Amino acid sequence: MTDLDARPGIAGLAPEAVAALVAAAGEPPYRTKQILDAVWRSAPERLDDVTTLPAGLRDALGRATRWDTLLATDVTVTDGGRTEKALHRLAGDQAIESVLMHFPGGPGRRERHTLCISSQAGCAVGCPFCATGELGFSRDLGTAEILDQVRFAARRLAPDGRRLTNIVFMGMGEPLLNLDRVLEAVEALNDPRRFGLGARHITVSTSGVVPGIRRLTALGAQFTLAVSLHAARDPLRDVLVPLNRRWPVAEVVAAARDHAAATGRRVSYEVTMISGINDTPADADAMAELLRGDLVHVNLIPMNPVAHTPWRSSSAEAIERFAARLRAAGLPVTIRQNRGQDVGAACGQLAAERAGEPAPTAVAWRRKRLEEASLTALRGDVPDEVEPVLARTAG
Ligand code: SAH
Ligand code: SF4
Repeated sequence: MTDLDARPGIAGLAPEAVAALVAAAGEPPYRTKQILDAVWRSAPERLDDVTTLPAGLRDALGRATRWDTLLATDVTVTDGGRTEKALHRLAGDQAIESVLMHFPGGPGRRERHTLCISSQAGCAVGCPFCATGELGFSRDLGTAEILDQVRFAARRLAPDGRRLTNIVFMGMGEPLLNLDRVLEAVEALNDPRRFGLGARHITVSTSGVVPGIRRLTALGAQFTLAVSLHAARDPLRDVLVPLNRRWPVAEVVAAARDHAAATGRRVSYEVTMISGINDTPADADAMAELLRGDLVHVNLIPMNPVAHTPWRSSSAEAIERFAARLRAAGLPVTIRQNRGQDVGAACGQLAAERAGEPAPTAVAWRRKRLEEASLTALRGDVPDEVEPVLARTAG
């Protein structure tokens, strides 16, 4: 790593740290607000373009901080302009992604601009239907690397006078396994002196890191907690979310239930619908039983195709049938659309393409083992051999 990379990203600095830099540069205190406004409220891509600041202060800031931690970004626009997928390159040469989705307004409904951001480069959890899981884990993102995805999207919206209305931690990575940085990022997003987005417009999604959920509950955080459930039965969830072997589904749901009770906020449950795997009537009934009476909202999401799995999305009819069984148990359910499928815009997918196709023999081997593991799970047994199937193997 070079000296250049050692400078912290300016977006990750708390206002107090910015104030300390201003004082060290011998500048008056009002400069702190000018700097925070330049970072969070204006569109300059380069520190040199921040003309509200004197050149000497810009030099001092440039020596101490990085204006942007995203070195280069490729944007792919799809869905007739409604989805913008950004692939960002970081110092260290990792690639991460963020996805900006535009939802038109309507009668009594204002238009929304939702940004999905990454919290890690890759992910160690290794869910077999997820392209990020396929990549394996590279590293945690720093606070500024998380926040600079938001600034990038805000800059794209600004020329048309538009602002982000929602931010979801549903890109690459498991946010609760990088929780300190994620909490710093949420604080910056929420802070009226910085991004100033209401906590209720921020969603943090987890595959079920129970101690992380408990920590959030203790903080009394008001942002939305989303739990990637996918299956209510342990043998199947062990295959779909390998972390389930550490924190079984009943523990995850108990922690989410306590969170809802403590915050008074509905927990979102995400279910990626996979044909013939987790969309059966028995799975719907098990899920209804598990969540019945809880303060929840269930989102059913068709699976985006991923190269290395033998699986595909449930049909629209199967998803409707699944939803109907949950609704019959009194659970609120939404069937979600997947965005950006035509450019492979599923979670982690563009970055996976950049990483190169895995060798066909490795894909064939993984598919076969996954088929065996899921068949065993569908019979209700706990497959002993699931570990090597789900562990990421290079190439
Ligand atoms: N690691 C966290 C957050 C990032 S993943 C988590 O798992 O919750 C965000 C969401 O994308 C999760 O609900 C995940 O299950 C879903 N997802 C991953 N791969 C998908 C695919 N191929 N199709 C549809 N949804 C997918
Ligand atoms: Fe990681 Fe979430 Fe993908 Fe699972 S679904 S591998 S937890 S990013």
